[in-house]
Amino acid sequence: MSLIVQKYGGTSVGSPERIQAVAKRIKRWSDKGHEVVVVVSAMSGETNRLTGLINATYATGTAREKDVILSTGEQVTIGLLSLALRKIGCAARSYTGGQACITTDSAYGKARISGIDEANMQADLALGKVLVVAGFQGIDVGGNITTLGRGGSDTTAIALAVALNADECQIYTDVDGVYTTDPRMVSSARHIPIMGLEEMLEMASQGSKVLQIRAVEFAYKYNMPIRVLSSFDEGDTGKSTLVTSEEEIMEEVLVRGVAFNRDEAQLTIEGVPDQPGVAYKILGMIADANIEVDMIVQNASSAGFTDFTFTVHRNDYDQAKQILCDLGEEMGAKVCRGDDKIAKVSIVGGGMRSHAGVASTMFEALAKEGINIRMISTSEIKVSVVMDEKYLELAVRTLHEAFELDRV
Ligand code: ASP
Ligand code: MG
Repeated sequence: MSLIVQKYGGTSVGSPERIQAVAKRIKRWSDKGHEVVVVVSAMSGETNRLTGLINATYATGTAREKDVILSTGEQVTIGLLSLALRKIGCAARSYTGGQACITTDSAYGKARISGIDEANMQADLALGKVLVVAGFQGIDVGGNITTLGRGGSDTTAIALAVALNADECQIYTDVDGVYTTDPRMVSSARHIPIMGLEEMLEMASQGSKVLQIRAVEFAYKYNMPIRVLSSFDEGDTGKSTLVTSEEEIMEEVLVRGVAFNRDEAQLTIEGVPDQPGVAYKILGMIADANIEVDMIVQNASSAGFTDFTFTVHRNDYDQAKQILCDLGEEMGAKVCRGDDKIAKVSIVGGGMRSHAGVASTMFEALAKEGINIRMISTSEIKVSVVMDEKYLELAVRTLHEAFELDRV
């Protein structure tokens, strides 16, 4: 017997029929003798609907009240799913984030989980109940309802799996696992049966949308295996992706997948004095405005001057450009410019650690297609390049082929 945490996303519980199908699936696991804790998202579209209501009523409403509203989506699902489970003879009990004693900081809309008191849940599990917990929410020390940010139910599931010392955290979604790249862009993308947590962390950070980044960070930190699988797999074929510690993986591959991100924008400032404190001044101002910076490149200086280029989220582009250009004027910079029509493409794979030449294979493949690289950044298991957005699809296809990811 094992303890399994299962998370069902919005489309998996998107209608009463879907909720009934999910209930049957849960019962099959419970009937086999497993202890099951289920985390659910709001029914698909619900969080967007609630956001629309908030904006239509009072766009600048306080963050506390927004979270009171947003958290209701998941509350509906836990109630409905518990009813559906009871109807088929499965003892189930719903838990809001607060009832599950999931405590967070008070950063409304993007709260971080600080602790989970699992005593009540353990008691219910001992009675043979299936627990149905609302994802995406918690309470702060003052008892206020908080939410964890979009996609936050994944994080709830991993955090619960860690707190309850589960054997596995299963994330049920509308796809049957992680692919070598987005199959909607490249039809020859292949399903990945097993991969490393660190690889998944890089894939998520570089734009893969299958799992929320924070959730993967959590799983990586606590070494919690994640299994991604489809709740639409009615025949229970068992096709899935197991994301687990690198030690469990028999076959290290050079490149596991190609991730991409079109949500970034590039900013450049040229001809600033090459002196201590300049990078701090420029990037400090950006950080003070709460804007996150992704890639940063400083050129080798010439004649006492240097250039900086960095990328930010596209939503922050206008604000970041304003800050940068004001500062540039103050410092006597020669040029301040930006471009929000860029894209970042990355190759990720644990095997890169022990192999040289991966980056040059990547650059060669892109060069053959006439794709100009604007920025490069690398880590132990990843190489990312920034290019004009119009080349994105071509670049992803080219790299997918160059590293033979379409071949079995
Ligand atoms: N319902 C929330 C959202 O749509 C949380 C989640 O689905 O994970 O972002
Ligand atoms: Mg969701």
